[in-house]
Parts: sequence; C-alpha cells; structure tokens
Amino acid sequence: MNWKRVIGLDNLAEDYKFARSESTGYTSAQKIPDRWVPTTCGYCSVGCGMEIGVKEGRAVSSRALASHPVNRGKLCPKGLSEHYTIAAENRAKVPLLRKNGKLEPVGWEEALATMAERFRKVQSKYGPEALGVLSTGQLVTEEFYTLGKLVQLGFGTSNYDGNTTLCMATAVSGYKLSFGSDGPPGNYEDMERADVVLLIGANLADNHPILCQYLEANRNKTLIVADPRVTKTAMMADLHLPLKPRSDLALINGIAHILIHYNLIDRAYIEKHTSGFAELEAFLAGYAPERVSAITGLSQDTIFKTAFLYGRAKAGFIGWTMGVNHSTIGTATVNAICNLALLTGHIGRPGAAPFSITGQCNAMGSREASFTSSMPGYRKFEDPADRAELAALLNVEEARLPAKRGLAYPDIVEATVSKKIRALWIVATNPLVSYPNQGVLRHGLSNLDFLVVQDGYHPTPTTELADLVLPAAIWGEKDGTYTNSERRVSKVNKAVEPPGQARPDFDIFLAVADALGCREALFPGWTKPEDAFNEWRRVSRGRLCDYSGIDYDLLAREGATQWPRSEALINEASTPERSSRLYADGVFKTPDGRARLICAEWVPFPEQPGGDYPFVLNTGRTVEHWHTRTKTREVPILERLSPRAWLEINPRDARKLGLSSHDSVDVISRRGSTRGVELRLTEITAPGQVFMPFHFFETNVNEVTQSAFDPISREPNYKQCAVRVERSGARS
Ligand code: SF4
Repeated sequence: MNWKRVIGLDNLAEDYKFARSESTGYTSAQKIPDRWVPTTCGYCSVGCGMEIGVKEGRAVSSRALASHPVNRGKLCPKGLSEHYTIAAENRAKVPLLRKNGKLEPVGWEEALATMAERFRKVQSKYGPEALGVLSTGQLVTEEFYTLGKLVQLGFGTSNYDGNTTLCMATAVSGYKLSFGSDGPPGNYEDMERADVVLLIGANLADNHPILCQYLEANRNKTLIVADPRVTKTAMMADLHLPLKPRSDLALINGIAHILIHYNLIDRAYIEKHTSGFAELEAFLAGYAPERVSAITGLSQDTIFKTAFLYGRAKAGFIGWTMGVNHSTIGTATVNAICNLALLTGHIGRPGAAPFSITGQCNAMGSREASFTSSMPGYRKFEDPADRAELAALLNVEEARLPAKRGLAYPDIVEATVSKKIRALWIVATNPLVSYPNQGVLRHGLSNLDFLVVQDGYHPTPTTELADLVLPAAIWGEKDGTYTNSERRVSKVNKAVEPPGQARPDFDIFLAVADALGCREALFPGWTKPEDAFNEWRRVSRGRLCDYSGIDYDLLAREGATQWPRSEALINEASTPERSSRLYADGVFKTPDGRARLICAEWVPFPEQPGGDYPFVLNTGRTVEHWHTRTKTREVPILERLSPRAWLEINPRDARKLGLSSHDSVDVISRRGSTRGVELRLTEITAPGQVFMPFHFFETNVNEVTQSAFDPISREPNYKQCAVRVERSGARS
C-alpha cells in the first residue's frame, strides 16, 4: 500500500495537471509537447500526414497535419494514439541469442557475426536458396530497396517475399495481367469526382477510415457496396449488394454481360486501347442474369440496376480490398474488375478508375522497390532488356540477377516443411498470428536450422520461437519515405531515439552487409537512408514508378507528391493533375500498348460448408486494431475499446444452436480450433455465415483457416472456410 497516497501526500498532482494547448485547448500537461515533428502515419496505406509531439525526448502526443493532401486534418483512432506504440512495454531493446534453449542478451557484434556465420553455413551445405527471407509492408522504401539488394545480391537467394503477399499480391498480379504492369491507375480524389462508386469487398469505414471523408464529400454519387456482411461501409451505401460469399467474380462478369448486351460500353475506347473483346464477349454469354442471380443470391433486378448505374455513369470508380484479394480466384476477380473499367472507358479520367486500396503503410514501396515479386522499378525477372538495364544501373554482372522470381511467401513456408529451406530471416512481421493454417507454419519453423526475427517488439508469438532476435527501431524513430495507395510519396521522420540498443532496420541491413563482407560493393559510401533513396531515384528513372523527380528537399517543401514524377519536374511546383492518374493516354504497359480484356471464370470457393462444418467463416479487421495487434494491444484506448476477439453469428443460427450473446464458443475446422471466443448475435452476418476478426493471438482465427492460395498471386484464401460452432467445453 502506498501510505503517502493514502494520507494525501503522493496525490499524482503532476500526472493530473492540465494546461492549455494551442491545438487542443485544455489538455493533460504531460501531453503538451516541446516540439512537433511532421511525419506520416505508420499503420495503413491511406498515408495520413501527422505530427508527433515530443516532450523531453519522449513521444507524448499525435495530431493530424492539417496541410497534408490526404487526410486534410483528420486521423482515425489508431493515428490519434500512435505515439503510444513507441514507449510500449514490449519493445525489443537488445539482441537476443538462443543459448541452451533460452534467449539471452548479446551484443550486436556477436549477434550479427552469428547470423552471418549460421546463414553461410546453411547456404554452403544446402545451396544458396536454402535461405528464405520474409519481410513486410512496414519498412520505409529506402529499407526495402536496401534489403532487396542485400538478399538478392549479398546472400544470393531469391526465396524472398513479404507479408504483402498475404494482403494485396492479388491486385499486383491482376494489374500486371490486365495492364502490363503493377500500379494503381487512380487516386483518392476520384472517389469525390465519380458519379458512381462501386466498392467490392472493401470495408473502408473499419479498415481505411479516413477515406470515408472522400465519399462523404461527394454529394452527387451513388454508392454501391458489394459485401456479404452489412458492414459499417455497407450502411453508408445507397445500394448494398449482400452477395453470397465469393460470388463477386460471377457478379462482375454478369454486369459486363449486361453492359455489352445493352450497348452500355465505349466501343471507341475498346477498339483503340484494348485487345480480346471478341473472346470476352463470347465468354460472357455464360454469365446471363439468371445464372448470376443463382450464384450470387442477388435478384436479377438488383444485378440489372447495378449494371445500368455503372454503365450509365459519366465517371465510374471501382474500389476493392481484401474481400477480393483474399481468394483462390482473386487475380481473376481483379481482371474482371479491370474488364469493367476498360469496357466502359472508366479509367484514366477524373473519377474513373479500377482502384486497389492497399493495406500497409508502405506496401506500395515494397511493390516498387523491394526485389520480391518483381525487380526494382517493376522490372520483370524474365525480361532480358529489364535485366540488362538493371545490371548496368547497379554495376553488377547480369548473371547475378535472378532470371525468375523465387518462392512466394506460402511456398517459402512449404519449403520449410519439406526442408528445402533451412534458415529463415523474418523482418517486421508476425506470421505466428497472421499466416493461415498455423499448424503447417509451426511444423515448418520447427524444421529450421536457424531462425532470425528482426522486430521492434519482443516478445511476440514469432520472436519467441527465434534463435536470434534483432531489436529494430520503429515508426517515429527513423527516417525515410512511405508511398500510399494513390502513389503518393510522403516523408517519414525521426522524432525520438529508439530504446536500448534497438537500431533502424536500414542500419541493421548495412551492418549485416558488413558482416557478410559485401557492404562497400553493394552500398558504396552509404550511411543514411537518403543514400538509398538517391540510388532508387536513379533506378526508377523512366519507369512507370518514376521517382527521379522526387528528393528529400522537395518532400520537405511540398510535404508529399505522387509518382510518376520525372527529373524534369523536380523544381516545378506540384499541380494536382500532373501525375495523379495513370493511363490517361490509353497507352498501357503491354508489348502492344493495349490493355488486355481477360476471360476470368468463376468457380466456387474450395471448402464448401456442410456436414460437421455447416458455416462459412469470414475473417477481417476492426478499426481499433492493426494486423496482429503487436502495436495496438499496447495502446490503452484501443485495447480497452476492443480487448478480445468475437464471433459474429446470425440470431437465427444461434437460436438453432441454443446459444446466446456473450456465450463462450469454440470455432472448429478440419485443421484446428480456436477456443473461448465471445459470441455476438447480429444481423450484420447472414444466416449460414460467421465472422471473426484476425488480430488476436489469444484466440487466433488462423488456427482454423486453410492452406488454399491463388495460383497466380499466391495470396491465401482467408475469407471462406467451413467451420462449426460449439459452446466452449461442450465436448470436453
Ligand atoms: S486511416 Fe490509416 S493512415 Fe490514416 S490515421 Fe488511420 S491508420 Fe493512420
């Protein structure tokens, strides 16, 4: 007992003192900073501009940057409380090396020497490809670029991928097939300028909340939301399409069929800028309204209404996120979305775009610069001209560049199971929560000779399994750039020092290169992220994602700017229209310059409900948390708002099972179970379906999800699997 407090002496007066802040009025004095440091939010791909308040060397508050073009002075709950992630209890502060089964603190020198020695040993015994690397969408672009060079040219393995494959690889594959290159064609402003906005599998209100202001500002739009759940975004819609799970591709094909049949297409655009129309028209004959109605569960009237609204729009916008991407037919669905835009000419104009809203704060930087699913600058591994050009730019032998993509994320995991991969380096991601069908992953990791996990936090479920933990600086503690979903490059700035011995990932990569003996050859004279950025500008020059006209001075001056921005424009003031849309000229990145119309066949999802597993399980997110909750469970206000997982079930199904709201239930699939989940009865979820958020390691929904992946993008089918629901302990 604190006797001083009992007798009124230790009354925490300092903690509870209020003062006046010029931006927020009366505020806890502790939250009024000495200075504000401008930066960009480190959670999602919306890319909000913000400031970190710093007092006596500590991050004490966060606020929106009113001048930033993306968020216009607003932040969501995660952004508003982001400073709490820095001083979290579970920050990793020292390198830890497993000795006699226990993680023990060691110095950086020993940590890096051990890592280099163990990785080299594995590679010399089993071959260079026996090393795998899994990174993230959370690093700054400078770090992605550096890590890509280090992995591909330093370690000489191409078995390198990011957790972005769990998130938006499908959009990447779809864009590449339809347009010849990755790169989102539109921008956020299009949501304000479209007269029809169609969102497919995109719950912006929970997952990209600040984007809702673009919808709200557009008073002339018709908002259509296709989602099996009545999400918060669906509640904003003029027309909600509660389609059956994974029937979106059939719906899109059905809309295209109607558009062609009723001549609501732009024949001049199709003629001039696309290929494959005749084949597509014949193929779509299989998607007559009667069949599409049977597949989707939507009435024919609703399907016609949707088609006519989009087809008659002056500018139609289609946005999508994980509802489309998390699927074995995700890439095909993206192609079908692109078909709709191309058939109607709804692309490359204000308000008109097929637009993938991506996930993590710098998933885009990873797509452009990281050397994972393509070489830097969207160069293709298999294209001899791309290889020759990149080799010359990097001043390396062309033979050192991989001639094909290495293993994608799920295939790296499979290779740990089959012992083709024997050592793994995991950077800033937490697969022991986020990977589907956890049993397979645990098996694979248990086979490894050496596992290195580099993260800003410890313990996490993944760092706990590591042989070596490398403590990394996080957002707020390092410099660089992020690129958001609309290709907008924003500066990320250091506000405070990292804790203990934690170092920026950029420094760690250079130190690993030092330990390998390749630092000067690969990173000559590099000491700071700007050195990487300047090389990346040269490497991206003339590419679709041209950064050559962007430098740190310009970002300091303008705050943020979109690519492409060529070197000729470095000194020009930004104009909103200059680089805001791709393909305005109708010329695409295919060999003939024409976009491809692709016949994308719908098939049912792989694990249908029935028998012992009667429900379709859908997974997703909630506004309060970020991915595996490594950060947000340390933010008191977010954790209190959403402290545990839940399972949504329709009241009619609950009644049949004899279950009530707040009952504790087990969710069971053919692969495993997650137990003790709180039940929520709600009409948000339709009969026959259940929904569970994926943030919570304590009740991890990925114990039950399946190993089923898109054949092209390799993205997991997180969204549908067959489960049963039982009262907790019913069978024990
Ligand atoms: S919408 Fe995304 S980028 Fe903006 S504050 Fe929220 S989490 Fe950060």
